[in-house]
Amino acid sequence: MSRIDVRCPACGKINYSLDLVETDGWMECEHCGCTARLLSLHRGDATVVGNCCWQVVKPLPSSRTLRAVRNHG
Ligand SMILES: [Zn+2]
Repeated sequence: MSRIDVRCPACGKINYSLDLVETDGWMECEHCGCTARLLSLHRGDATVVGNCCWQVVKPLPSSRTLRAVRNHG
C-alpha cells in the first residue's frame, strides 16, 4: 500500500513516508514523540491541517519523561 507524508497534529512538523494502513492509522511523530491516530482524512493529503482529524494520545511524552527522571533523583 502507498506511504504518505503526514503533518503532526501536536508539533506541526511533517513525518515522511508513513504507512498508516499497516498501523491502522497510528503514527509516532519522530520530531516530538507524540502518538496520534488519523481518524479521518479528506482528499488524500495529510500534510494539510484541515484535511485531517486526529486523536492525540501523548502530546508531550518527552517533558513527562524528563520530569519523572528529575523526581526520581
Ligand atoms: Zn510531532
